[in-house]
Amino acid sequence: MMYRSTRGAPSQIDFVEASLLGLAPDGGLYTPIVYPALTPGASHLSYVETAVKVISAFAGASLPEDVIRTLAEKAYAPFAHASVAPLTQVGAGRWMLELHHGPTLAFKDVAMRLIAQLYDYVLGLRGERMTILCATSGDTGGAAASAFAGAEHVDIVILHPLNRVSPTQRLFMTATGADNVHNLALEGDFDGTQAILKQLLSDEPFRRRTSLAAVNSINWTRVAAQSVYFAQAQAQLGAATPIRFVVPTGNFGDALAAYVAYRCGLLNGFDCVAAVNANDAMARLLAGEPLVRGYTHPTLSPAMDIQLPSNFERLLFEAVDRDGAAVARAYGDLASDGAGRLPQAAAAAFRTMGFSAERVDDAETLEEMRRTYAETGWVVCPHTAVGLAAARRGSEREGAIVTLATAHAAKFPETVEQALGIRPGLPDRVGDLYSRPERFEVGPMSLAFVQDRIESVVRAKS
Ligand SMILES: *Cc1c(COP(=O)(O)O)cnc(C)c1O
Repeated sequence: MMYRSTRGAPSQIDFVEASLLGLAPDGGLYTPIVYPALTPGASHLSYVETAVKVISAFAGASLPEDVIRTLAEKAYAPFAHASVAPLTQVGAGRWMLELHHGPTLAFKDVAMRLIAQLYDYVLGLRGERMTILCATSGDTGGAAASAFAGAEHVDIVILHPLNRVSPTQRLFMTATGADNVHNLALEGDFDGTQAILKQLLSDEPFRRRTSLAAVNSINWTRVAAQSVYFAQAQAQLGAATPIRFVVPTGNFGDALAAYVAYRCGLLNGFDCVAAVNANDAMARLLAGEPLVRGYTHPTLSPAMDIQLPSNFERLLFEAVDRDGAAVARAYGDLASDGAGRLPQAAAAAFRTMGFSAERVDDAETLEEMRRTYAETGWVVCPHTAVGLAAARRGSEREGAIVTLATAHAAKFPETVEQALGIRPGLPDRVGDLYSRPERFEVGPMSLAFVQDRIESVVRAKS
């Protein structure tokens, strides 16, 4: 099983290399040359067994199956629910796929924990060390900190904008107690932290000297790990049941993972709704509008406040029949002119593939949180509510509608209070979060400052 860039460079690498590299040297995203041919699983398979089946197919000869089993067992052991991603019914024919039972209460745990296990295993085998760099506006940093905490062969340096993440989000990053987790709170905004991350990763000598890598949402291993829960949902509802998946969407990682599961033969057909908030880039792109870098509107579902969904590139690659030159042209135009026109036939191709989009604004998000509470007694997070509101729009259709519950409501207590007038408590397993000691350093939003801190982390460990 080999991987190539979406921008057409001919070189091929295996699953483990694609995982360690993240981004391809030509700026494109790694994608399998052929999708493995699998069949829907039986409903009695455990989550770990399904993960072993799917990840083994993607890993090919690069990782033995028994190693994958050990990594998956370790990754999913701390989940609070034994089935990892349980389905719960919210109404007639409508379901929720609960992805928030991990240590940091959001779906990012599912893939991040597997990738952390993979890195530590492979680096240990090679006798190498790496420094993972992560710029976060909220949930990803916590998931990464928790997943890599205590890893023997990895240091992780997390950049977050000072005072611009919620206290709960900050604590998940800064209170792991692990000495390989380093937090820098930078004086500025998220775009600033992301710009520094990009500069550091594109500084080749620095990157080599410090063995720097990023585990952002374009990493193929994250997509592969996320395709597992779509397969598992299909197995639970029965292979004969057509499912519409409604996916609260930001960087389009989850929605793309659904498509990947379908392409591997793990789903009965493909029907996927990208549910977006006021940041509706994904809806505009699916309609064939050009790639642009727009303004980010702050909303009540902040993990979805994305202006340019990074995994869209993989969808475009499929829509143009894997014409890497066409993808490179669109992204090249975006970089040079600020607008990347999509090929004429793209919008029709997205539709034929089975993708659509629904926009849900903040008022409707709050209303959906109230409605779900009234109908089921459950308190859902605002991201999940965006999905549930979008799901209602198609509820007269045949088959099952499965909405992804992407985070636990307790991660967004202010919004829950605004909607319902109650403040959700943290689940028992993280109940002591607010009393854990924090460790982070405040500094200027400057490349030199971050560079200096990374150098000192690397020096301390060598
Ligand atoms: C990251 C995130 C999303 C968006 O997922 P993508 O894969 O980036 O589209 C939605 N909800 C929550 C809670 C998230 O953390």
